[in-house]
Amino acid sequence: MTETPLETVDTLIIGAGPVGMTLHLALAAAGRKSLLLDRRPSAALQADPRALALSHGARQLLEQIRSWPIHAATSIETIHVSQKDGFGRTLIDRSDYALPALGYVVRYRDLAAALSANLAADALLAEAELLDIAPDTDGVTVALRQAGQLRRLRCNLLVHAEGTPGDENGVSVADYGQHAVICEVTPLAGHHQRAWERFTPDGPLALLPLGKEYSIVFTLPPDKADAVMALDDEAFIAALERQFGRGMRFAKPGKRSRFPLALRLRDTLVKGREVWVGNSAQTLHPVSGQGFNLGLRDAWQLAEILHTHGTEMPELDRYVRARRLDRRGSAFFTDQIVKAFSNDCGPLKLARGLGLLALDVFPPARHFVAKRMIWGARAWP
Ligand SMILES: Cc1cc2nc3c(=O)[nH]c(=O)nc-3n(C[C@H](O)[C@H](O)[C@H](O)COP(=O)(O)OP(=O)(O)OC[C@H]3O[C@@H](n4cnc5c(N)ncnc54)[C@H](O)[C@@H]3O)c2cc1C
Repeated sequence: MTETPLETVDTLIIGAGPVGMTLHLALAAAGRKSLLLDRRPSAALQADPRALALSHGARQLLEQIRSWPIHAATSIETIHVSQKDGFGRTLIDRSDYALPALGYVVRYRDLAAALSANLAADALLAEAELLDIAPDTDGVTVALRQAGQLRRLRCNLLVHAEGTPGDENGVSVADYGQHAVICEVTPLAGHHQRAWERFTPDGPLALLPLGKEYSIVFTLPPDKADAVMALDDEAFIAALERQFGRGMRFAKPGKRSRFPLALRLRDTLVKGREVWVGNSAQTLHPVSGQGFNLGLRDAWQLAEILHTHGTEMPELDRYVRARRLDRRGSAFFTDQIVKAFSNDCGPLKLARGLGLLALDVFPPARHFVAKRMIWGARAWP
């Protein structure tokens, strides 16, 4: 294998998923050079089956880097939140917020395509295998194998954007005992741009309008997820209709995929000249669709701080402080929702029903929740 001379780059980003690419493009917009590297071929992102609910705030940030997938996004006009076999419901309506939409739904692959269309030809080292990361006081040296070559890269700053971490030191993990089965289905009566969050004792069931389809996130304990994955299409639709439980009819289920769900929170976002963003910093339950929205804000705020203050260690602490409330608040919010709603306990069901009712009849409370979904950190505290 040939070994190339040591190369230097200001910022090296490991992981060219949507968060890594957003960071690269935000840095480029501010005149800072960075290099992305990913272990997979870039076409691999096109195989990701997820659909993402994005906030209005996320759209505004993506527009600034010309990466808003305008033709692939479906607007959300209303959000209906309720519990199966229990009373109380909340309806959040776009007309209360003077916005073009409450949020948008896009396929992961369309978002990835919109971002990668803006990458320069030399912005990404794809199919790169990381061999070693050697930090010191002035920077980090990374060794990797790519296209039959051994390469060594020296950077001022190494950003980790490689997605959900495994069980490793410095990452606290709380397993929800739930798996998300996802797929697209056709609602026979159309979706009228309404998103549904339906809480069931098995876990939340979300329906997100996407083109003419609903993208569903059907959350279940692992053994029930096994059973649902094994059903034929007809039986799957019957199971979905039963779980949703409002007489809504579906057809034409697409390919099913599943994801195990856990809260993974990294203790520290900065170590020397290494920084963590996106899912590698925090991986949340998909209920209420916070994950990418939060990762996008990580990337944006890091780019702003690097542009204004540079990569020195005290300056990087600004990033830790800037992200504290948003990441802790979003993690706490989703964690509490999952825990409070994923059970069949009578008194809790009553309390949840009263809570949903209170949100519905008391507009300030509803607006409090809605604004956090629309704007994220900008709405805290
Ligand atoms: C079922 C489900 C539904 C979701 N719904 C929503 C939603 O509605 N709204 C929302 O905002 N979020 C949602 N999310 C969360 C969202 O998908 C993630 O927050 C988002 O994809 C994180 O992006 P990322 O770029 O940090 O990581 P990823 O998308 O995981 O990308 C990481 C990249 O790093 C690369 N990589 C990994 N390891 C290495 C390595 N060692 N070397 C080099 N490259 C590496 C990978 O190949 C990949 O390209 C959902 C998640 C799930 C599971």
